[in-house]
Amino acid sequence: MKKRPRKPVIPRTAQETTRHAIMALLGEGSVSAKDISTAVHLPEKEVYSHLEHIRRSLHATGAVLEVAPAECRMCGFVFAKRDRMTPPGKCPVCRNEAILDPLFSIRGLQEQETD
Ligand SMILES: [Zn+2]
Repeated sequence: MKKRPRKPVIPRTAQETTRHAIMALLGEGSVSAKDISTAVHLPEKEVYSHLEHIRRSLHATGAVLEVAPAECRMCGFVFAKRDRMTPPGKCPVCRNEAILDPLFSIRGLQEQETD
């Protein structure tokens, strides 16, 4: 076994720090990816990839990433069966493009590391 070179103690990577910040937001209440994007200064696309990772890592802890589905502002159609977290482009019923974003929150989160 080779000895690893000594490294300065850096407890978290930037990625982990961001993920913890996102989890803190999710633990406080329901937020949209847009809210998270603003809070942690990340593009929404990256927020979604963090959310995917968080959902997977939460699985082991017994906590759940809850997703309140996207909803059409015009007719109230709920995109309940949608598996993806990203919001749909338009409503299949009325073709309206004003869609309320899905909201995310964490239920049952314990004080522990998830990664
Ligand atoms: Zn609609």
